[in-house]
Amino acid sequence: MTKEILPVDCVIFGGGVAGLFILHKCLALGHSAVLLESKSLGTGQTIDSQGIIHGGLKYAITGHNENSATAIREMPLVWRRCLAGEATPDLSNVTLRSDFCHVWRTDSLRSKLGWFAAKLALRTKPKVLDQDELPEAFHGLQGPVARLDEQVVEPRSLLEVLSHELDTNLIQTADGGVEVSKLDEGWLVQLLHPETGDPLDLHAKKVVLSAGKGNVQLRDEFNLTPNKTQDRPLHMVMVRGDLPVINGHCIDGAKTRVTITTTKDYAGRSVWQVGGQLAEDGVNKTPEELMSFAAKELQAVLPNVNLDHAECITYKTTRAEQHMRGIRPTDISIIEENEVLTCWPTKLAFAPRLADEVVARMDPPSINDSTELSIFSSWPSPTVALSPWETDQPWSPIELTCSL
Ligand SMILES: Cc1cc2nc3c(=O)[nH]c(=O)nc-3n(C[C@H](O)[C@H](O)[C@H](O)COP(=O)(O)OP(=O)(O)OC[C@H]3O[C@@H](n4cnc5c(N)ncnc54)[C@H](O)[C@@H]3O)c2cc1C
Repeated sequence: MTKEILPVDCVIFGGGVAGLFILHKCLALGHSAVLLESKSLGTGQTIDSQGIIHGGLKYAITGHNENSATAIREMPLVWRRCLAGEATPDLSNVTLRSDFCHVWRTDSLRSKLGWFAAKLALRTKPKVLDQDELPEAFHGLQGPVARLDEQVVEPRSLLEVLSHELDTNLIQTADGGVEVSKLDEGWLVQLLHPETGDPLDLHAKKVVLSAGKGNVQLRDEFNLTPNKTQDRPLHMVMVRGDLPVINGHCIDGAKTRVTITTTKDYAGRSVWQVGGQLAEDGVNKTPEELMSFAAKELQAVLPNVNLDHAECITYKTTRAEQHMRGIRPTDISIIEENEVLTCWPTKLAFAPRLADEVVARMDPPSINDSTELSIFSSWPSPTVALSPWETDQPWSPIELTCSL
């Protein structure tokens, strides 16, 4: 007996911010689409990220030219409309960490140069604050503090909102439960139900790989050209305690010396995620060395903040991108081969732009009976990954790390 094969316009592998935006866009345009997730939604980069909707500050201060900053400049407005519920996907239920960022600098000549570059190239230009407008945490700084209209989202909340009510399109896969093979047109994707072991075959006209780090293995399984990916690792620091809310960047020369974002943990404590140059340099440090370095850096860039009773911890993560000889890409990347689109948003902020570009490369939607996808209602849907500060790891008092 011939087994039934379910035709779909698109099968997406990987449910981080990129895959979820692509799924939304596909469904909004009438494509039949399913997203396969092998772990929890956002595992890897999205859940580890700082949630800043960049408008190009980082590109501007590193002296990238106008062209490379153009695409990112549009993103804050695109997101602002979704976050206000004025455009799709409706993200009005996403928790905002902040409606804006602060930018401040250490007072060196190098620092001034980066600052001027940023002011020239940005669409949302930093507005320098007067003394009486400064939050207490920024008192005592030598250089100016500016406010920048870049919103900061809570990544876990974003993943929850994007995956809400998409159960029949979001499919949890099991280890060894997915096989793919090329058909004359499109791909055969054979799935095994993670609980019952029942098989289900899909005929996908287009396959999208948006699996972050997982794209390497998937590209191998789809027999695509090797060595098209790169990882750029980061070693991030988290600080928790009675901390002021800070979301923004301290600029030093052509570098973001630290980027700090603030959230709350399950117990209501404030948690800072600390990235930027510190996390790049931290890759070659042990957690103890990095915590000690971070304590000194934080005292240097925020002298008025008392960290005496704070605790800290580090986490290692990586940025997964198209291969660019280790250099940071400045825009989204899509490689199209054999009816497979391998995608990297490069930044969370670029996810809407990536989704637009992906659907622009798809054929018009088939006239499929979308109720056929209801077959997936008996399949488990993936949960959202846990934020890095909620994992069960021991935190260290910051005063101890300082004395190392
Ligand atoms: C520490 C850090 C901070 C950052 N901060 C910012 C920021 O403030 N602003 C910004 O714009 N960008 C930021 N970024 C970049 C941003 O996080 C990423 O560009 C973006 O999240 C990538 O999303 P993604 O969906 O492509 O990948 P991911 O979020 O990595 O998601 C990949 C998904 O694919 C799944 N998967 C893996 N293998 C398979 C498989 N075989 N089958 C099915 N599913 C699979 C994973 O489980 C995961 O759910 C940051 C990145 C890092 C690491």
